[in-house]
Amino acid sequence: MPRIARAAAAVIPEDDLTAAPRPEAAATDPAQALRLIREDIGDCTRCKLHQQGRKQIVFGVGNPNADLMFIGEAPGADEDEKGEPFVGRSGQLLTNMIKAMGIEREDVYIANIIKCRPPGNRQPERDECETCSPFLMRQIATIKPKAIVALGAVAAKTLLAINAPMSELRGRWYDFRGTKLAVTYHPAFLLRDPRQKKEAWKDLQMVMKELGMAVPAKSSEP
Ligand code: URA
Repeated sequence: MPRIARAAAAVIPEDDLTAAPRPEAAATDPAQALRLIREDIGDCTRCKLHQQGRKQIVFGVGNPNADLMFIGEAPGADEDEKGEPFVGRSGQLLTNMIKAMGIEREDVYIANIIKCRPPGNRQPERDECETCSPFLMRQIATIKPKAIVALGAVAAKTLLAINAPMSELRGRWYDFRGTKLAVTYHPAFLLRDPRQKKEAWKDLQMVMKELGMAVPAKSSEP
C-alpha cells in the first residue's frame, strides 16, 4: 500500500471556478480568454507578496491551445525581472527537457502555482497559494491541456493536496479535476542532482506515450 495520504484540506479552494465572475467566459478563443484572466489579475494586491519586493506578475507563457502544461512553484529573480516563468538556469533546463521530448517551448504552456516572486525565493505560503491558484485554475480551464506536469514537490502537493515524498509522487498518473497529471522533479533540483535526470526523463517518456508522441528508441535524455 503506497504511503500516499490526502492532506487535511486542499490548498486550492474547490469552488474557485464558480465563486467569482469569470470575464473570460465571453471570450471567443483561448488566447483572448487568457488575456481577460490577465486583465482580471491587474496589478494584483490580493496577497502580501505585492508588498514584499515583487517587480511584476509572472502570468504564464506559451500556446493557449497546448496539449501539455508544465506547472512550477513560483517565479524566481530572473522570472520576476523578465515577467516570464522559467527563464533562469532552471528554465534553460526545462526548455532542454521540452526539446528532448521532440517539441519546442512555444508548443506547451508554462505557469506557476503563484504569480509573484516570494522574497528570498522562499517557498510560497499557504495563504498565497490559496489566493493565487484560482487564476491558475482558470488558465487550466481555458487551455484544457491533455496533460499537466507538476514540477517538484510544492507544485505537486499543492495541486493534489497529497503529502508524500517526491519518490512516491512521481512515476504515475493522477486525475486532476478531469485532467491527467504527472509529477516530476523540479529542474532546479535536477541542476543540484543531475543523476536524477534519468528518472525525470522516464516521467517525460510516460507523458509522451500518453500524448501519442514518438518516444525515441535511444535515450536522448536532456
Ligand atoms: N522555479 C519555478 O518554480 N518557477 C519559475 O518560473 C522559475 C523557477
